[in-house]
Amino acid sequence: MKDIELPMRVIVGDGAIDKTKSLFTELGLKGKSLVLSDGNTYQVAGEKIAADLGSESLVLGDSMGEGIESAIREIKKTGIDFVVGVGGGSVIDSAKVCAFKTGIPYASIPTSAAHDGITSPQASIPGDKPVSMRVHSPLAIIADTEVIRKAPYRLLASGCADSVSNYTAVLDWELAKKEIGEYYGDYAASLSMMSAKIVMKNARKIRDDVSILVEALISSGVAMGIAGSSRPCSGAEHQFSHAMDLLCPGSSLHGEQCGVGTIMMAYLHGSDWEKIRDVLQVIGAPTTAKDLGVDDKCIIEALMKAHEIRDRYSILRDGLSRMEAMDLAEKTRVI
Ligand SMILES: [Zn+2]
Repeated sequence: MKDIELPMRVIVGDGAIDKTKSLFTELGLKGKSLVLSDGNTYQVAGEKIAADLGSESLVLGDSMGEGIESAIREIKKTGIDFVVGVGGGSVIDSAKVCAFKTGIPYASIPTSAAHDGITSPQASIPGDKPVSMRVHSPLAIIADTEVIRKAPYRLLASGCADSVSNYTAVLDWELAKKEIGEYYGDYAASLSMMSAKIVMKNARKIRDDVSILVEALISSGVAMGIAGSSRPCSGAEHQFSHAMDLLCPGSSLHGEQCGVGTIMMAYLHGSDWEKIRDVLQVIGAPTTAKDLGVDDKCIIEALMKAHEIRDRYSILRDGLSRMEAMDLAEKTRVI
Protein backbone atom coordinates (compact mmCIF):
# COMPACT_ATOMS: atom_id res chain seq x y z
CA MET A 1 0.00 0.00 0.00
CA LYS A 2 1.28 3.48 -0.83
CA ASP A 3 0.78 6.31 1.61
CA ILE A 4 1.84 9.55 -0.07
CA GLU A 5 1.99 12.72 1.93
CA LEU A 6 2.51 16.06 0.19
CA PRO A 7 2.28 19.73 1.21
CA MET A 8 -1.19 21.18 0.71
CA ARG A 9 0.03 24.58 -0.49
CA VAL A 10 3.35 25.94 -1.73
CA ILE A 11 3.92 29.64 -2.33
CA VAL A 12 7.17 30.78 -3.97
CA GLY A 13 7.98 34.37 -4.87
CA ASP A 14 9.04 37.82 -3.77
CA GLY A 15 7.04 38.99 -0.76
CA ALA A 16 5.53 35.52 -0.18
CA ILE A 17 5.77 35.85 3.62
CA ASP A 18 3.23 38.67 3.52
CA LYS A 19 0.68 36.03 2.51
CA THR A 20 1.33 33.88 5.58
CA LYS A 21 -1.68 34.90 7.64
CA SER A 22 -4.23 34.77 4.80
CA LEU A 23 -2.87 31.40 3.62
CA PHE A 24 -3.18 29.89 7.10
CA THR A 25 -6.78 31.17 7.33
CA GLU A 26 -7.55 29.55 3.94
CA LEU A 27 -6.03 26.28 5.13
CA GLY A 28 -8.12 26.36 8.28
CA LEU A 29 -5.06 26.65 10.51
CA LYS A 30 -6.71 28.30 13.47
CA GLY A 31 -5.95 28.79 17.12
CA LYS A 32 -2.63 29.23 18.84
CA SER A 33 0.58 29.01 16.87
CA LEU A 34 4.23 28.85 17.82
CA VAL A 35 6.87 30.45 15.59
CA LEU A 36 10.29 28.81 15.88
CA SER A 37 13.35 30.68 14.66
CA ASP A 38 16.97 31.25 15.66
CA GLY A 39 18.67 34.48 16.67
CA ASN A 40 19.30 35.48 13.07
CA THR A 41 16.11 34.29 11.38
CA TYR A 42 14.00 35.86 14.14
CA GLN A 43 15.25 39.21 12.94
CA VAL A 44 15.06 38.34 9.25
CA ALA A 45 11.42 37.18 9.29
CA GLY A 46 10.41 35.36 12.48
CA GLU A 47 9.54 38.45 14.50
CA LYS A 48 7.35 39.88 11.74
CA ILE A 49 5.54 36.59 11.12
CA ALA A 50 4.90 36.05 14.84
CA ALA A 51 3.49 39.60 15.10
CA ASP A 52 1.26 39.10 12.02
CA LEU A 53 -0.09 35.84 13.39
CA GLY A 54 -0.33 37.02 17.00
CA SER A 55 1.66 33.92 17.75
CA GLU A 56 3.87 32.68 20.56
CA SER A 57 7.54 32.80 19.60
CA LEU A 58 10.50 30.71 20.62
CA VAL A 59 14.06 31.58 19.59
CA LEU A 60 16.16 28.42 19.46
CA GLY A 61 19.76 28.25 20.63
CA ASP A 62 22.62 26.21 19.21
CA SER A 63 21.59 22.86 20.66
CA MET A 64 18.96 21.29 18.45
CA GLY A 65 17.97 18.69 21.06
CA GLU A 66 17.37 21.27 23.80
CA GLY A 67 15.45 23.49 21.37
CA ILE A 68 13.12 20.66 20.43
CA GLU A 69 12.55 19.74 24.08
CA SER A 70 11.70 23.32 25.09
CA ALA A 71 9.40 23.71 22.05
CA ILE A 72 7.56 20.50 22.97
CA ARG A 73 7.14 21.74 26.56
CA GLU A 74 5.76 25.05 25.29
CA ILE A 75 3.34 23.31 22.89
CA LYS A 76 1.97 21.11 25.66
CA LYS A 77 1.84 23.83 28.30
CA THR A 78 0.07 26.48 26.25
CA GLY A 79 -2.01 24.24 23.98
CA ILE A 80 -0.38 25.25 20.70
CA ASP A 81 -2.37 24.17 17.61
CA PHE A 82 0.32 24.45 14.93
CA VAL A 83 4.03 25.21 14.54
CA VAL A 84 5.71 27.54 12.07
CA GLY A 85 9.42 27.00 11.37
CA VAL A 86 11.14 30.18 10.14
CA GLY A 87 14.78 29.65 9.27
CA GLY A 88 17.31 27.34 7.69
CA GLY A 89 17.61 23.59 7.88
CA SER A 90 17.99 23.04 11.60
CA VAL A 91 15.13 25.38 12.60
CA ILE A 92 12.80 23.74 10.06
CA ASP A 93 13.95 20.28 11.21
CA SER A 94 13.22 21.27 14.82
CA ALA A 95 9.73 22.43 13.79
CA LYS A 96 9.15 19.11 11.98
CA VAL A 97 10.22 16.98 14.90
CA CYS A 98 8.27 18.82 17.59
CA ALA A 99 5.14 18.95 15.38
CA PHE A 100 5.51 15.21 14.73
CA LYS A 101 6.03 14.34 18.39
CA THR A 102 3.03 16.38 19.54
CA GLY A 103 0.77 15.40 16.62
CA ILE A 104 0.11 18.91 15.31
CA PRO A 105 0.65 20.36 11.80
CA TYR A 106 3.52 22.64 10.82
CA ALA A 107 4.43 25.10 8.09
CA SER A 108 7.89 25.65 6.64
CA ILE A 109 9.07 29.20 5.95
CA PRO A 110 12.69 28.88 4.77
CA THR A 111 14.88 31.98 5.01
CA SER A 112 17.68 30.29 3.05
CA ALA A 113 17.89 27.38 0.62
CA ALA A 114 20.97 25.46 1.74
CA HIS A 115 19.45 21.94 1.36
CA ASP A 116 16.26 20.05 0.62
CA GLY A 117 15.42 19.58 4.32
CA ILE A 118 13.43 22.83 4.10
CA THR A 119 10.72 21.00 2.17
CA SER A 120 11.10 17.28 2.86
CA PRO A 121 9.19 14.92 5.18
CA GLN A 122 12.55 13.87 6.68
CA ALA A 123 14.39 15.45 9.59
CA SER A 124 18.13 15.10 10.21
CA ILE A 125 19.00 14.70 13.84
CA PRO A 126 22.71 15.27 14.44
CA GLY A 127 24.66 13.32 17.05
CA ASP A 128 27.12 10.46 17.44
CA LYS A 129 24.98 8.45 15.10
CA PRO A 130 23.17 10.93 12.87
CA VAL A 131 19.70 9.74 12.00
CA SER A 132 17.21 10.69 9.37
CA MET A 133 13.76 10.62 10.92
CA ARG A 134 10.60 10.21 8.89
CA VAL A 135 8.17 12.93 9.89
CA HIS A 136 5.17 14.56 8.19
CA SER A 137 5.29 16.84 5.16
CA PRO A 138 4.74 20.50 5.95
CA LEU A 139 1.12 21.54 5.51
CA ALA A 140 2.38 24.65 3.73
CA ILE A 141 5.70 25.93 2.38
CA ILE A 142 6.13 29.67 2.01
CA ALA A 143 9.39 30.44 0.22
CA ASP A 144 9.95 34.17 -0.04
CA THR A 145 12.56 34.57 -2.76
CA GLU A 146 13.28 38.15 -1.65
CA VAL A 147 14.35 36.84 1.77
CA ILE A 148 16.21 33.80 0.39
CA ARG A 149 18.13 35.97 -2.12
CA LYS A 150 19.50 38.06 0.75
CA ALA A 151 20.94 35.02 2.56
CA PRO A 152 24.72 34.49 2.11
CA TYR A 153 25.48 33.14 -1.38
CA ARG A 154 27.38 30.24 0.15
CA LEU A 155 24.07 28.82 1.46
CA LEU A 156 22.50 29.06 -1.99
CA ALA A 157 25.49 27.33 -3.61
CA SER A 158 25.24 24.59 -1.00
CA GLY A 159 21.55 24.12 -1.81
CA CYS A 160 22.41 23.79 -5.50
CA ALA A 161 25.00 21.12 -4.67
CA ASP A 162 22.42 19.24 -2.58
CA SER A 163 20.06 19.29 -5.60
CA VAL A 164 22.82 18.11 -7.93
CA SER A 165 23.45 15.21 -5.52
CA ASN A 166 20.04 13.78 -6.47
CA TYR A 167 21.87 12.61 -9.59
CA THR A 168 23.95 9.92 -7.89
CA ALA A 169 21.21 9.21 -5.32
CA VAL A 170 18.98 8.09 -8.20
CA LEU A 171 21.81 6.06 -9.79
CA ASP A 172 22.24 4.30 -6.42
CA TRP A 173 18.52 3.61 -6.19
CA GLU A 174 18.53 2.09 -9.71
CA LEU A 175 21.51 -0.04 -8.70
CA ALA A 176 19.73 -1.25 -5.56
CA LYS A 177 16.74 -2.26 -7.66
CA LYS A 178 18.96 -4.15 -10.10
CA GLU A 179 21.31 -5.83 -7.65
CA ILE A 180 19.19 -6.52 -4.57
CA GLY A 181 15.63 -6.11 -5.87
CA GLU A 182 14.87 -3.07 -3.73
CA TYR A 183 11.57 -1.27 -4.32
CA TYR A 184 12.09 1.49 -6.89
CA GLY A 185 9.60 4.23 -7.68
CA ASP A 186 9.81 5.58 -11.22
CA TYR A 187 7.89 8.79 -10.52
CA ALA A 188 9.87 9.69 -7.40
CA ALA A 189 13.18 8.86 -9.12
CA SER A 190 12.31 10.83 -12.28
CA LEU A 191 11.19 13.88 -10.29
CA SER A 192 14.36 13.81 -8.21
CA MET A 193 16.59 13.42 -11.30
CA MET A 194 14.72 16.22 -13.05
CA SER A 195 15.44 18.58 -10.14
CA ALA A 196 19.16 17.81 -10.39
CA LYS A 197 19.17 18.30 -14.16
CA ILE A 198 17.28 21.61 -14.04
CA VAL A 199 19.76 23.01 -11.52
CA MET A 200 22.67 21.73 -13.64
CA LYS A 201 21.24 23.24 -16.82
CA ASN A 202 20.63 26.60 -15.14
CA ALA A 203 23.82 26.75 -13.08
CA ARG A 204 24.71 30.18 -14.44
CA LYS A 205 21.27 31.67 -13.80
CA ILE A 206 20.69 30.69 -10.19
CA ARG A 207 22.46 33.69 -8.69
CA ASP A 208 19.89 35.93 -10.39
CA ASP A 209 16.88 33.65 -10.16
CA VAL A 210 16.77 31.76 -6.87
CA SER A 211 13.30 30.41 -7.67
CA ILE A 212 14.98 27.81 -9.94
CA LEU A 213 16.74 26.37 -6.90
CA VAL A 214 13.79 26.76 -4.53
CA GLU A 215 11.54 24.87 -6.94
CA ALA A 216 14.17 22.13 -7.34
CA LEU A 217 14.36 21.72 -3.56
CA ILE A 218 10.57 21.64 -3.27
CA SER A 219 10.40 18.99 -6.02
CA SER A 220 13.03 16.96 -4.13
CA GLY A 221 10.84 17.15 -1.01
CA VAL A 222 7.85 15.99 -3.08
CA ALA A 223 9.91 13.11 -4.52
CA MET A 224 10.70 11.97 -0.95
CA GLY A 225 7.01 12.32 -0.05
CA ILE A 226 6.07 10.06 -3.00
CA ALA A 227 8.79 7.52 -2.22
CA GLY A 228 8.02 7.54 1.50
CA SER A 229 11.73 7.83 2.29
CA SER A 230 14.78 9.97 1.50
CA ARG A 231 15.90 7.33 -1.06
CA PRO A 232 15.38 9.46 -4.24
CA CYS A 233 17.59 12.25 -2.88
CA SER A 234 20.12 10.45 -0.68
CA GLY A 235 22.63 7.84 -1.76
CA ALA A 236 26.34 7.20 -1.27
CA GLU A 237 27.17 10.92 -1.63
CA HIS A 238 24.99 11.56 1.44
CA GLN A 239 26.59 8.67 3.31
CA PHE A 240 29.94 10.30 2.56
CA SER A 241 28.68 13.65 3.89
CA HIS A 242 27.32 12.06 7.08
CA ALA A 243 30.67 10.28 7.56
CA MET A 244 32.41 13.67 7.26
CA ASP A 245 30.04 15.06 9.90
CA LEU A 246 31.26 12.35 12.26
CA LEU A 247 34.97 12.40 11.40
CA CYS A 248 35.62 16.10 10.82
CA PRO A 249 32.52 17.89 12.12
CA GLY A 250 31.68 21.49 11.40
CA SER A 251 34.15 21.96 8.57
CA SER A 252 31.66 22.55 5.78
CA LEU A 253 27.96 22.60 4.94
CA HIS A 254 25.82 19.54 4.23
CA GLY A 255 25.17 20.43 0.57
CA GLU A 256 28.84 21.29 -0.03
CA GLN A 257 29.95 17.88 1.25
CA CYS A 258 27.24 16.11 -0.76
CA GLY A 259 28.39 17.94 -3.89
CA VAL A 260 31.96 16.69 -3.52
CA GLY A 261 30.56 13.23 -2.74
CA THR A 262 28.53 13.38 -5.94
CA ILE A 263 31.66 13.95 -8.04
CA MET A 264 33.30 10.83 -6.57
CA MET A 265 30.20 8.60 -6.62
CA ALA A 266 29.50 9.62 -10.25
CA TYR A 267 33.02 8.39 -11.06
CA LEU A 268 32.31 5.04 -9.40
CA HIS A 269 29.07 4.74 -11.36
CA GLY A 270 31.03 5.32 -14.59
CA SER A 271 28.97 8.47 -15.11
CA ASP A 272 30.12 11.89 -16.30
CA TRP A 273 31.82 13.05 -13.08
CA GLU A 274 33.67 15.86 -14.85
CA LYS A 275 30.39 17.44 -15.86
CA ILE A 276 29.20 17.35 -12.22
CA ARG A 277 32.47 18.96 -11.11
CA ASP A 278 32.25 21.65 -13.81
CA VAL A 279 28.69 22.51 -12.83
CA LEU A 280 29.63 22.78 -9.15
CA GLN A 281 32.50 25.07 -10.11
CA VAL A 282 30.18 27.30 -12.13
CA ILE A 283 27.82 27.45 -9.13
CA GLY A 284 30.75 28.31 -6.84
CA ALA A 285 30.35 25.20 -4.67
CA PRO A 286 33.38 23.24 -3.37
CA THR A 287 34.89 20.50 -5.54
CA THR A 288 38.04 19.65 -3.54
CA ALA A 289 39.15 18.86 0.01
CA LYS A 290 40.84 22.25 0.12
CA ASP A 291 37.59 24.02 -0.87
CA LEU A 292 35.83 22.12 1.93
CA GLY A 293 38.51 23.24 4.39
CA VAL A 294 39.54 19.70 5.33
CA ASP A 295 42.71 17.68 4.92
CA ASP A 296 43.05 14.70 2.57
CA LYS A 297 42.84 12.29 5.52
CA CYS A 298 39.27 13.39 6.32
CA ILE A 299 38.15 12.64 2.74
CA ILE A 300 39.83 9.20 2.67
CA GLU A 301 38.50 8.17 6.09
CA ALA A 302 35.00 9.41 5.23
CA LEU A 303 35.04 7.43 1.98
CA MET A 304 36.06 4.30 3.92
CA LYS A 305 33.37 4.81 6.57
CA ALA A 306 30.50 5.99 4.35
CA HIS A 307 28.96 2.55 3.63
CA GLU A 308 28.50 1.91 7.38
CA ILE A 309 26.45 5.04 7.96
CA ARG A 310 23.06 3.56 7.34
CA ASP A 311 21.52 0.49 5.94
CA ARG A 312 21.29 1.76 2.39
CA TYR A 313 22.60 -0.12 -0.61
CA SER A 314 24.76 2.05 -2.85
CA ILE A 315 27.67 2.00 -5.27
CA LEU A 316 29.93 1.67 -2.20
CA ARG A 317 28.50 -1.82 -1.66
CA ASP A 318 30.70 -3.40 1.08
CA GLY A 319 32.89 -0.33 1.36
CA LEU A 320 36.17 0.95 -0.06
CA SER A 321 39.66 -0.03 1.08
CA ARG A 322 42.13 2.74 1.91
CA MET A 323 43.84 2.24 -1.46
CA GLU A 324 40.53 2.39 -3.34
CA ALA A 325 39.46 5.50 -1.43
CA MET A 326 42.76 7.26 -2.17
CA ASP A 327 42.62 6.27 -5.80
CA LEU A 328 39.05 7.58 -6.13
CA ALA A 329 39.79 10.92 -4.44
CA GLU A 330 42.95 11.41 -6.50
CA LYS A 331 41.42 10.47 -9.85
CA THR A 332 38.55 12.91 -9.32
CA ARG A 333 41.06 15.54 -8.10
CA VAL A 334 39.26 15.97 -4.81
CA ILE A 335 42.64 15.54 -3.11
ZN1 LIG B 1 20.87 16.50 1.34
